[in-house]
Amino acid sequence: MHKNFKNIDKIVYGKGAFNQIDDILAAKRDENDKFMVFIVDKYFEGKELADRIPAHDEDMVFFEDIDQYEPTTDQVDNLRDKILAEKGVPAGIIGIGGGSIMDIAKALSLMVTNEGSSQLYQGLNLVKKAGVYHMGVPTVAGTGAECSMTAVLTGPVKKLGLKCDWTVFNQAVLDPELLSTVDTNQWFYTGMDCYIHCIEAESGLYFNAYSKAYGDQALALCREVYLGDNAGQNLENDEKLMIASLFGGLSLTYSEVGACHALSYGLSKILGTRHGYANCLAFYHLEEFYGDAVNEFKSMIEKHNVDLPQGLSKEWSEETIDAMAEVAYNLPHMWNHAIGLDWKEKWTKEDIKKLYRRL
Ligand code: NAD
Ligand code: ZN
Repeated sequence: MHKNFKNIDKIVYGKGAFNQIDDILAAKRDENDKFMVFIVDKYFEGKELADRIPAHDEDMVFFEDIDQYEPTTDQVDNLRDKILAEKGVPAGIIGIGGGSIMDIAKALSLMVTNEGSSQLYQGLNLVKKAGVYHMGVPTVAGTGAECSMTAVLTGPVKKLGLKCDWTVFNQAVLDPELLSTVDTNQWFYTGMDCYIHCIEAESGLYFNAYSKAYGDQALALCREVYLGDNAGQNLENDEKLMIASLFGGLSLTYSEVGACHALSYGLSKILGTRHGYANCLAFYHLEEFYGDAVNEFKSMIEKHNVDLPQGLSKEWSEETIDAMAEVAYNLPHMWNHAIGLDWKEKWTKEDIKKLYRRL
């Protein structure tokens, strides 16, 4: 069976595209209880961008703190309960921020029309009813959350996405100017999520011409941004990175991640390590999976003087390593891709623990 996947309905791209949001929303404002909900990264509270959010009097604006934890099922449930209690069902939900905020917006758009906790819907095609209109406005680039079919949430039991056709944004607003304030480490970690998505997509069973076409372009853009003559944070590179993120996401949609994301999920679930950073910690040590790409990655770290500590595993107890390996082992789709459908005959939890001990 081939994946029959849903793409973003509409995309607006370019410097200043943020200014078009109000016009785009005008056509949607009459739906449901006729108000919009803006979910905005708390970083922007009190900043210039906050004043530019086109919220009308009837709208709700939430500045969400995502620095403590990655998005949780409780956070989405609480927001949903508050919105429904105070104003009813919104006409639309707009997420302005990185992967965390976009995932909250995607999940929320489903949860305002589906009963019960978002925990019930973590998985593939478990959502029962279509959500409301939703728009993604990335402010840090690399995750591909702007185009993916999943809204990743951490619940009491699992870190897993709400994944279905309705999860995908109706509208993406890709304004490279919004990336200008991201600090260098974060710019690198999130950008590397894109680079790693493409390398993982091409290093396994599910790779194909569709995935390659997008992945090659995304990788070429990442190489210009991180290693080219004009490498570094500037508007020209932000324009490229925004498209690299989108294409990396599309490459991945038609392939799969592998060992690096499996280890990264273990780090995030057990230690709360942020996604892009966790990927970087793992990728550095996975030469047997990703070959020369690991050396290329190391030269990017060096060029941009990025913090990536080593020797972390010395501080981890056996139980911690065991718990992370348990999370990573239980991602069979990733190991199918990375090792092959017979991976269970070749690969054990002990092997995964050995990888964690390298970090
Ligand atoms: P993020 O949203 O977690 O934000 C990282 C940091 O950057 C935060 O401190 C935030 O405040 C800050 N930030 C964001 N924009 C900024 C700006 N313009 N200026 C200054 N600071 C800014 O980062 P991320 O790496 O984009 O997202 C990671 C999350 O995305 C994880 O929760 C992960 O699970 C999820 N994810 C989802 C998908 C998907 O397909 N849905 C894919 C990959 C990752
Ligand atoms: Zn990722």
